[in-house]
Amino acid sequence: MQWETVIGLEIHVQLSTRSKIFSAAATAYGAEANRQACAVDLGLPGVLPVINAGVIKKAVKFGLAVNAEIAEHFVFARKNYFYPDLPKGYQISQLELPIVGYGQIAIRLDDGSNRIIGITRAHLEEDAGKSLHEDFHNMTGIDLNRAGTPLLEIVSEPDLRNAQEAVAYMKKIHTLVRYLGISDGNMQEGSFRCDANISIRAKGDTKLGTRAEIKNLNSFRFVEQAILHEIDRQIDILESGNKVVQETRLYDPDKNETRAMRSKEEANDYRYFPDPDLLPVELSRDDIESIRTELPELPDAKRQRFIKAFNLSEYDSSNLTISRELADYFEATVQASGGEAKLSANWIMGDLSAALNKENKDITKSPVTANALGGMIKRIKDNTISGKIAKQIFEDMWNGEGDADTIIEVRGLKQVSDSGLIEKLVDEVIAANPDQVEQFRSSPGEKQGKLIGFFVGQIMKKTQGKANPQQVNALLNKKLTAG
Ligand code: ADP
Ligand code: MG
Repeated sequence: MQWETVIGLEIHVQLSTRSKIFSAAATAYGAEANRQACAVDLGLPGVLPVINAGVIKKAVKFGLAVNAEIAEHFVFARKNYFYPDLPKGYQISQLELPIVGYGQIAIRLDDGSNRIIGITRAHLEEDAGKSLHEDFHNMTGIDLNRAGTPLLEIVSEPDLRNAQEAVAYMKKIHTLVRYLGISDGNMQEGSFRCDANISIRAKGDTKLGTRAEIKNLNSFRFVEQAILHEIDRQIDILESGNKVVQETRLYDPDKNETRAMRSKEEANDYRYFPDPDLLPVELSRDDIESIRTELPELPDAKRQRFIKAFNLSEYDSSNLTISRELADYFEATVQASGGEAKLSANWIMGDLSAALNKENKDITKSPVTANALGGMIKRIKDNTISGKIAKQIFEDMWNGEGDADTIIEVRGLKQVSDSGLIEKLVDEVIAANPDQVEQFRSSPGEKQGKLIGFFVGQIMKKTQGKANPQQVNALLNKKLTAG
């Protein structure tokens, strides 16, 4: 039997407003417990929620970016359930008339192919508080700072077919919300997390199989692992002649397994109804169009532009446009280097990325500015330094020893391109190593390439690596073969 996997993701994006979705309390992360929950967040009697206009604007930006229908009329609903971190006894969400309707987004797979994924809807809701189990012996602590934090829940169509596609989709949405400036996307702080719905069906079937929903995945790696594991679990069940039950499951990264939380039968009936405390919201076409004018250049457009304007490969361009900050850094580097796009791309994705990763820094915290990197690349291009010496200079710049020109000057790293001097050194090395010269001359051509390395090495030693490698190679070749 051939199986097919079907996946739909519900991504929860925390919108980066300063105040909450229905109150003026602050949303900043990391405050002392229960210092950022006001009477509205607690649902105390006599208070009324008021919608935060900034939240609406951010949701509309997302909708426009995925070519979705934006509702000109939408309402909020109460989703009723009981839990200690939900003091009102209901969560304000949206059910029938969400702010963002059907849209689409393109994802790119590792083999370079593209797929269009449908977005069913995106709706606004408030987050709940947090239950704290550590630090409280035999008790549960409740922190309501997060209660009322604005969330945009983005629901995909069941269009994803494997873990790789699900991760590519999630990364694409992550990049997009950060470009739009509607969320910081911080996954460690829970600002970007998802529930993965997974089912299996016989290949060729058009009816969906029974799904399990894995809750609260907060890293790309966990999404991938949880899905891979869940696919195996469900196929095992089906192949042994049993049926998958519809249920909610939790992923345990330590054990790399999922386990049941609650089944469909015990699932809550949320008794949704329109929230009588909140008026329906009307958005005019003009409101929507005016928000459209504030959209930045989006990731796909930037990627295409980089390919054209800088003659980059699709691969380089995808990597460099993964965040707006990285793309800006790249453009500034190219500018400072005098237009060296390919070298700039290589340095940024190579040495710079490696150094940033090693110290767990992001590009905005790079000790080497775009200006400094571009300045160094300029010196590679005009042959003042070789690529090898550049690596040393990059390290010095990283360690705060100034810009490339200063380091070249102070350390005397200027490349030796004086052909008279290089010729003299080549003659010296040839004269001093008659055995190696003999070996070179008696070897077949394809072996000589390797043997020449010995002579190059001698000359580099004499010049502390500063001799222009192209000149050295050319002269050595000429003199050794001439003899
Ligand atoms: P609920 O709100 O009860 O979780 P929805 O119908 O809104 O259910 O679906 C939530 C998510 O589950 C969507 O992303 C949808 O694409 C996905 N989904 C629904 N049915 C299936 C299925 N049989 N297999 C995989 N994903 C599914
Ligand atoms: Mg769900």
